[in-house]
Amino acid sequence: MELTVIGCSGSVAGPDGPASCYLLRAEQDGRWWQIVLDLGSGALGGLQRHIDPLTLDAVVLSHLHPDHCLDLTGLHVMWTHHPVMHPLGRLPVYGPTGTAERLARAHGVDAAKPVEDAFDVRAVSCRQEFRVGPFSVLPILVNHPVTAFGYRVTCAGATVAYTGDTDACPELSPLMADADLVLADSAFVEGRESASGVHLSGRRAAQAAVAAGGVQRLMLTHIPPWTNPDVCRAEAAEVWPGEVEVAESNRVYLIGSPS
Ligand SMILES: [Zn+2]
Ligand SMILES: [Zn+2]
Repeated sequence: MELTVIGCSGSVAGPDGPASCYLLRAEQDGRWWQIVLDLGSGALGGLQRHIDPLTLDAVVLSHLHPDHCLDLTGLHVMWTHHPVMHPLGRLPVYGPTGTAERLARAHGVDAAKPVEDAFDVRAVSCRQEFRVGPFSVLPILVNHPVTAFGYRVTCAGATVAYTGDTDACPELSPLMADADLVLADSAFVEGRESASGVHLSGRRAAQAAVAAGGVQRLMLTHIPPWTNPDVCRAEAAEVWPGEVEVAESNRVYLIGSPS
């Protein structure tokens, strides 16, 4: 499976790229399947550098904060009004309960129906796995001020574990265990933010990956524009025994063997 980081800027879009959006692609039965994990601020623009968004097979949302979901409004416009391309059906959108209503509010309408005319919005539940083509997607409830899921995506024996936004919690172990790649929220810096139950730091991300066991690669992400990524990397490196990677937008990573 191929992972393309569309956006990895924490909390807001940054000078070098959009907020959270990770494109996963894999080939099966003679065609490419394409899903995105989150579609945050600015991500629809960056996504178009890599694929035609109207060819997406699903959007999977970790939670309903703007930096993870708001560019669905642009995708809705594109899905509904593109003058040339006409998608064949409604786009499956997986997310927490209330996703359609949240998007309707973002569009300034009261009812979810206009959203659901274009998107087949499906509420996910913790540990209720679903499939999109070759991808098995397992949602796991994590630790954030709103309902938020991490996702464990497996394809052809390779696994990407995406934390979404979370602070440390026991659920990170089943989310991360034995993953080929962990994409871990590292928005906070130890000693700088005192709030708990919001974000991991580089240190806490590494601690969670070590505790989970069997993680092959640790990649820090969701680092905001006001934070030096080297600080997060150094925190994680005190705990993580291997190379600490930091996500970069527009980079493509191969996970597992070529599909
Ligand atoms: Zn966020
Ligand atoms: Zn959030």
